[in-house]
Amino acid sequence: MQPMSDAPYTIRPASSPTALLFVCDHAGNALPEGYGTLGLEPARLEEHIAYDIGASEATLALAGAYGAEAVLARYSRLFIDLNRGEDDPTLVMRLSDGRIIPGNAAADAAEIARRIAQVHRPYHTRVADSIARRITAGMVPVLVSVHSFTPTWKGRERPWQVGVLWDRDPRLARPFLAALAAHGFIAGDNEPYSGALHGDTMWRHGTMNGLPHVLVEMRQDLLATPEAARAFALSLKPALDAALAAMGPPEVRFFAADLNSEKGIPMDVTTQTEIEAAVFRRLVAHLQARSDVQNIDLMNLAGFCRNCLGDWYREAAAEKAITLAKDEARSVVYGMDPAEWKRRYQKDASAEALAKFAAGNTSGGKGH
Ligand SMILES: [Zn+2]
Repeated sequence: MQPMSDAPYTIRPASSPTALLFVCDHAGNALPEGYGTLGLEPARLEEHIAYDIGASEATLALAGAYGAEAVLARYSRLFIDLNRGEDDPTLVMRLSDGRIIPGNAAADAAEIARRIAQVHRPYHTRVADSIARRITAGMVPVLVSVHSFTPTWKGRERPWQVGVLWDRDPRLARPFLAALAAHGFIAGDNEPYSGALHGDTMWRHGTMNGLPHVLVEMRQDLLATPEAARAFALSLKPALDAALAAMGPPEVRFFAADLNSEKGIPMDVTTQTEIEAAVFRRLVAHLQARSDVQNIDLMNLAGFCRNCLGDWYREAAAEKAITLAKDEARSVVYGMDPAEWKRRYQKDASAEALAKFAAGNTSGGKGH
């Protein structure tokens, strides 16, 4: 485990049992040790190309007002953009505002993979953990992503004080837009950007989980000082309150890309859990049928094996205060006593497989 000080995020812990969870992908402008300023003049790291100015203060103010947890990025989007999917070509920008970023110009696939492992993946795993913990506690999380935008773009003034970005799930965005207008704000509907970005943070954690969500963009001249940022963020709270009230109790609901459905497909958490459990049972049945597939090969290829699955089962049971012995839990996966499976199906590992295993090519697995 990384020590907390190395984590690529900071956390404002929840102080009340709210379903709201705030994320701020572009909160920070730090760079990990060893990367200097990515070859840029230090002053450039204080500009919008490096992070969303004022967004961190705005996020903390709103999360604080709700007693909600907030996950805030520590590192600059110039290092890696957390609001992009791992497969997005703009994940690591070689150019920004038409200028070369020297420290990124030579970033090859291996370097991008390193940055994903160091920053992108731990950040999104943390967001996913926060969501999972709320679901385990019987809540349907509501995600609010906070960003900020520049007052002008290519010489044009942007009239909106706040932008509401959304993709296919209108549940929170529509009433929020209406409430902002009612409270006298000039609010952009999918302005200054579109919220329909495949693989971005709201797609990954909101859309794909069927969770209500919205992305709020705030104009940076309204966030010019920390005090101003806090005050402006809090001025949006009555509209967000009204939107949450209009939406009603949050529920899991999927909005298919091609359905253009207003209501989405409702799915209660029990049904979602049953579907996930069905996938687990099918995986286990598959592994039982494919007794020719060796654990060491699974470990070498994917960093987990039947024993890991059994151990994850035991750990999940422990979270429900159910104590299982190690072999008991592993038997769920093997379909028999693990020793018996080993006697029947485990083959002598090849020298090559053993060498690879010994070389530690087993990221993600443990206890072997
Ligand atoms: Zn942003």
